[in-house]
Amino acid sequence: MVVGPRPPGVDAPVVGVLALQGDFAAHTRMLRALGAAPREVRVPADLDGLHGLVLPGGESTTMTLGIEREQLAEPLREFAADGTPLFGTCAGLIMLDRDHLGLIDVRTERNAFGRQVRSFEADLEIAGIEGGSVRAVFIRAPWVAEHGEGVEVLAEIDGHPVAVREGNRLAISFHPELSGETRLHARFLELVCARGGPPPPVTGMAGPA
Ligand code: GLN
Repeated sequence: MVVGPRPPGVDAPVVGVLALQGDFAAHTRMLRALGAAPREVRVPADLDGLHGLVLPGGESTTMTLGIEREQLAEPLREFAADGTPLFGTCAGLIMLDRDHLGLIDVRTERNAFGRQVRSFEADLEIAGIEGGSVRAVFIRAPWVAEHGEGVEVLAEIDGHPVAVREGNRLAISFHPELSGETRLHARFLELVCARGGPPPPVTGMAGPA
């Protein structure tokens, strides 16, 4: 898939990146490179008018405390209630699970591959991602230990789901933003654009299915 900056004068989808903690800046850079207009989200008012939201990797306990401090949990659930696309990576996947925001019907296991020493890279085939395997960077990563019927497993390692989708909510255990892998973010932006945000003028981006 060929993606790139939008032509001048074309509205870009405005995509939030939860910026309480973690590697939000890497997501912001990648979204901008793909033609979206990223906005850092720290307080409920930052959610206004967004076409989608990324929940980055980091440390889920710290992120949970930040969400409590800013009273963001309810606004985040309200924001997502109408099907606005969400994309969680690593700690962001944990934040979306049943035990946290409850926005994807999964139970995650934290640090499932072991602690820091078990950080690793793997080549993953991911359903819906074309162009060959994805180089995936796992850092103290969770996996999905249980999931509901509505959850589609897009990739697994040793039988453990590491990429899932439930409707417009996409979540993965690894960090494409750290390896320069743009296809997952591009896929997420397809969901954003297919939902009727600004049109997707970026070459190669699919329109509504
Ligand atoms: N181990 C972290 C946690 O449990 C997640 C790691 C990551 O986001 N890279 O919150």
